Amino acid sequence: MNTRKTLRINEQGHLEIGGADAVSLAKSFGTPLYVMDEQYIRDMCSVYRDAIEKEYGGNGLVLYASKAFSCLAVYKIADSENIGVDAVSAGELYTAFRAGFPAEKIYLHGNNKLPYELELALDHGVGAIVVDAYSELDMIDEMCARRGMVQKVLLRVNPGVEAHTHRFIQTAKTDSKFGFSVSDKTAEKITEYALTKKHIRLAGYHCHIGSQIFEKQSFLLAVDKMMAFIADIKAKHGFEAEILNLGGGYGIWYTDEDAKYTCADYAEYLKAIVRELKAKSAEYGVRSPFLVVEPGRSIVGEAGVTLYTVGAIKEIPGIKKYVAVDGGMFDNPRYALYQAKYTAILANRAAEAPTEVVSVAGKCCESGDLVCADVSLPKAERGDILAVLSTGAYNYSMASNYNRNFIPPVVLVRDGKAEYIVKPQTYEDLVRNDVIPERLK
Ligand SMILES: *Cc1c(COP(=O)(O)O)cnc(C)c1O
Repeated sequence: MNTRKTLRINEQGHLEIGGADAVSLAKSFGTPLYVMDEQYIRDMCSVYRDAIEKEYGGNGLVLYASKAFSCLAVYKIADSENIGVDAVSAGELYTAFRAGFPAEKIYLHGNNKLPYELELALDHGVGAIVVDAYSELDMIDEMCARRGMVQKVLLRVNPGVEAHTHRFIQTAKTDSKFGFSVSDKTAEKITEYALTKKHIRLAGYHCHIGSQIFEKQSFLLAVDKMMAFIADIKAKHGFEAEILNLGGGYGIWYTDEDAKYTCADYAEYLKAIVRELKAKSAEYGVRSPFLVVEPGRSIVGEAGVTLYTVGAIKEIPGIKKYVAVDGGMFDNPRYALYQAKYTAILANRAAEAPTEVVSVAGKCCESGDLVCADVSLPKAERGDILAVLSTGAYNYSMASNYNRNFIPPVVLVRDGKAEYIVKPQTYEDLVRNDVIPERLK
């Protein structure tokens, strides 16, 4: 089990999340239920923030990648922890603004930002826009000309490093809908183009090499490639980047196939990155850039647990046992999307040793609707509370109303007490935007 402070087994043999008994939470709030531990989120924000302070004299900014988990309360937490956020849509921007998040600490991403998304960003004065297309430069330049303003932008670059979990590869040319490659000179060409725009101030570059990465070496290689690129651009075009945004991607524990990182391990990632950054800036003769990092998953992932109630159980002799729960791909589509792996436990019998391997099925009308496959559990029975761990990132934010199921509410736990940060949906919510045309009435 996750060894961090978030989770423990209490005297009743129940799972506890941030000091709150999971069985009591299920009773008070119902299931399915997302539970988030506030202290865990705060601890992770401060790990990154303090590492930049300590290792780099504060010459940088941590942005929480809010696509991992976006709701009003999480922007409040990020703000009170004195970090920035990145947003990838007008909806995320709007949510941040509604929470009173300072616009100058927001970076806007996206490979196909829509005109109304750019307008919203410019109206509120976001800190930076990370540009990913020529036509986007044109749009921003025109919009800023109309407003009589100049917008700070970064360009999204592919350094030719791709990392996935425990492996990374160096690629000559990146086949991705994101970014411009260093190797084929398209990153250089868009730099030249950006520098011609009157209402754009090019401040530097962004790269994001992947997600769920444990291989420190891949980040260091990205630093090297980006700094070499910055030096090359400086030599050829006289433009020296002020900002280097290295994206996110730091891995978290889902199952025992993953490393179990402590706060100190995450601080170590940043320490190594800063060391490499300083070495390369000296080696290539360019200034040490303002460092931006964008962790998403690692800030909220392990802070979250989803609680379900066990319902139908089906054993297919000699093949498999399915334990069905009251949730499914509508609250967690990650198995259906990419066979994501999770650890599950029975929250009401958390101290019991596992005796069988089962698949946890959802209640949607899709055979592929599993929450997780092949998890070890004690013999589950109808009414047990099943907890799936490390669901704080890319679960609620990817949830849908498929089959007109309710998106579960989210409670935030602090000092053992839980309160809603996302309320339960109602039947009315499901039909809120439905319209019956006159002729069908
Ligand atoms: C998704 C994403 C992140 C966050 O990645 P994590 O793996 O959640 O840390 C950061 N930056 C960009 C541009 C992203 O697309």
